[in-house]
Amino acid sequence: MKKERLASFKKRLLEKHEQLADGVGRTAIYGKDQEDDSIKDLGDQANNAYAREFFFELGNGSHRLLRDVVDALQKIDTGSFGDCERCGESIAEKRLEALPFARYCIDCQRLVEEEERTAAG
Ligand SMILES: [Zn+2]
Repeated sequence: MKKERLASFKKRLLEKHEQLADGVGRTAIYGKDQEDDSIKDLGDQANNAYAREFFFELGNGSHRLLRDVVDALQKIDTGSFGDCERCGESIAEKRLEALPFARYCIDCQRLVEEEERTAAG
């Protein structure tokens, strides 16, 4: 993917991240202090506990979305953005435009949703 293209996805993801973080009363989970050690340095134990909840409590829709957005931002940094997490193929750019935080290509998304439905019972 072209650098400019990647940068525009990153911008959109950061905006989305900000929106979601604001929506639940938190800011700057991604970007400023990504490492656990530096989170410790903030010296706010209550906020730290809350931040942990964010990443591990996945039932809630916006928490889950926030996690997807954070993961997508990390993938931009590591260079794997746009690759399907399941089959490894590139996710169609049209799909990424609609859902820049998509984890799977359209085919795998269907399979994953099918599996989730089956697992849910
Ligand atoms: Zn796939």
